[in-house]
This record gives sequence, structure tokens and C-alpha cells, in this order.
Amino acid sequence: MYDVLVIGAGPAGCMAAKKSADAGYDVLLVDKMDLPREKSCSGILIQKSVQMVEAEFGKIPETTFSHPQINRGIVVNTEEGKTFRFESEGYNVWRNLFDQHLALKAEEAGVELKTARAISSREKDNGVTVKFKDREEEARVVIACDGVRSTIKKNILVASNNTNPIITYQTFCRGNVDLEVDFFHAFLNPELSQYDAWFNVKDDYLIMGVGVQDPSLMKTYHSRFLSFLKTNHNAQIDSIVKEEVGIMPHITPEFQVDLGKGRVFFAGDAANLLNPLGEGISSALASGYLAAHAIKSGDNPEDKLNTYKNSMEENIAYMIRQWKFLGGISTRFRCFLD
Ligand SMILES: Cc1cc2nc3c(=O)[nH]c(=O)nc-3n(C[C@H](O)[C@H](O)[C@H](O)COP(=O)(O)OP(=O)(O)OC[C@H]3O[C@@H](n4cnc5c(N)ncnc54)[C@H](O)[C@@H]3O)c2cc1C
Repeated sequence: MYDVLVIGAGPAGCMAAKKSADAGYDVLLVDKMDLPREKSCSGILIQKSVQMVEAEFGKIPETTFSHPQINRGIVVNTEEGKTFRFESEGYNVWRNLFDQHLALKAEEAGVELKTARAISSREKDNGVTVKFKDREEEARVVIACDGVRSTIKKNILVASNNTNPIITYQTFCRGNVDLEVDFFHAFLNPELSQYDAWFNVKDDYLIMGVGVQDPSLMKTYHSRFLSFLKTNHNAQIDSIVKEEVGIMPHITPEFQVDLGKGRVFFAGDAANLLNPLGEGISSALASGYLAAHAIKSGDNPEDKLNTYKNSMEENIAYMIRQWKFLGGISTRFRCFLD
């Protein structure tokens, strides 16, 4: 029996696994995909993420960076035509390489890393049995970091009232646009998306994306967004090299966050943690860290889960404040102010 079984080797899972191994626990980290695996993401590490990664994993290697390496912040264009510029330096990384780096660092710290898709989990007297396609593994505690559509969470919280996730559609293009390449640009005009639309640059790709609730409309909104960029920012698209569909938690004013049940903790997207405009890596890292930290506390699973929940309060309050701030500058997110 492992002390800790972590499911999902994204930022939440790698952080949870590494911190647990650092504390002397016997840890298994599984991901359904072989690493490096693709993860649809803009790959912007805000300063808070950079600090957490550097404190726990050391310097982020150059090999994971995409150009421009420094992201200087975010420019938000609201539906009323106002522009807000938030300057704060972070990094621009390729998620496949960045996540692989974190997983390898966790492995160096003593974590056992395996490729396996978790199907379900079952609590027993002194631990949890997790079922995989061809075998079962047992652990005293499970930290489920298996992303937005967490199989483990669905299995445990059958009645979870999370809303459907936001579907994202982005294209990697070659061409030119007259927007600053070292900023992430968000557009909140409802004509352009059902959530937000964005532009950012990675190496020589211009990335243009939209978030929708109805996946059948993603290409319609995306083509409107491209036309908008052509008209308003002189976008010239020479070719579309790649299309990518992704998902992110749909945060609503109820702020439904699920941190676990019994001996199974949820972290990152699986816990339904996401900051405005799709920034989720910092919450994934923080929740992975605090979940691992909580395992050391108390004698029984209930104490450990309560410690995790209490320690997350500050992060959740911060997330709520950020959504309310967005509600203050954007009509479509005004519901967060109520
Ligand atoms: C288009 C887009 C752009 C984004 N841009 C940014 C950004 O620039 N900056 C930012 O901070 N955030 C961004 N985000 C959000 C960010 O990607 C997530 O919040 C973050 O990846 C959450 O980390 P995580 O570890 O919780 O989950 P993930 O990174 O999703 O990792 C989950 C892991 O679990 C594995 N897994 C899933 N199911 C199973 C299973 N059954 N068994 C085993 N393994 C399983 C998956 O393979 C995956 O590796 C973006 C999201 C999207 C969709």
C-alpha cells in the first residue's frame, strides 16, 4: 500500500506528489498519458506560479520556454470598449515540456511515476483502492488532480452540481497582428465569444482562441474573432497550422469548490479552482501543495481533510476577490458582484 496515490501529472499532481515525497511518504503518481503529453493552455505562468515552482522545483529550465519568454501581463478589452492593462512579469512556457519537467523533478524526489488511467476509487477501512484498466492500487490517501472532468470526483461526488465546463477552441496561426506580443490580450465583447476571446504569442505562432458554453458554436465565434482582429488590429493570417480544443472549469457566482471526501482529496481543476480569464496554474500548484501538506496533520482522514479545507480558505477567498474584480470592470461578469 502506498502512503499517497496522486492521480494526474499536471501542475497540481506534480506539486502534490513532490511535496508528499519530500515529507518522506511513499508516493505513486499516475497519468493516463505518457509524458510529455499535450495540454491545451496559453502557458502563461503568472508571478505567483513562478514563485511556487521555483521554491519547490528549482529554476525553470530554458527548454520549457516559448518565445517571448517573459510575459509582461494582461490587457483586458471590455464589452464597453474600455482597455485595462495589468502589468506583472511572468513566464511563457510550453505546457507539455513544463509539466514533464515537474513530473521528472517529482520522480527525482522519490515519486514513482506510471502511465495508467484511473477508472474509479473505493474507500476501505484503512485506505483507498483505485481501479485501473488492468490492475488496482492501494493507498492511505488519494489526491485526485485529474483535471476538469475528474473521473475520480465524478465517481465519489455523484451528485456534484458543477456546471458543464467551458470549451475552448484556439488556432495556431502564422502571420501578423498589431498587438503587443509579450502581453496576453483578452476580449470580452459578447459578439466574439460566450466567455472570453484571447490572443497571445508562442514562438512564431499567433494564437487566437475563444471560450464557449455551446461547443457547436466555437468555430462561428472563432471566425468572428478573426474578422474582428483583421478589422481592428490589422491581423494578417497566412496559414492556420494547428487547431486545439480544450476545457476549463466554468466558475459561477456560487463558487462551488470541491476539496474532497474521506481519504480522497481533490486539487487543481478537479477541485473546480480557476481564476478569471482562464488562469488556473497558480491555484493548481497551491492546492496540490496544501493537499500534500495536510496529509501530515492529524491522526484520522477527517482531520487531514479539514486541515486541507481550512488551509485553502485564503486561496479561495483570493479567487473570489479576483472574479468580483472582473465583475467590476465587465458587464458580462457582473453577476459575480451580487
Ligand atoms: C485554452 C486554455 C488556456 C489556458 N491558459 C492558461 C494560462 O495561460 N495560465 C494558467 O495559469 N492557466 C491556464 N489555463 C488553465 C490551466 O491549464 C489549468 O488550470 C491547469 O492545467 C490545471 O492544472 P491541473 O494539474 O489541475 O490539471 P491538468 O493540467 O489538466 O492535469 C490533469 C492531468 O490528469 C490526467 N488525467 C486525467 N484523467 C485521468 C485519469 N482518469 N487517470 C489518470 N490521469 C488522468 C491528464 O492526462 C492530465 O495530465 C488554460 C486552460 C485552457 C483550457
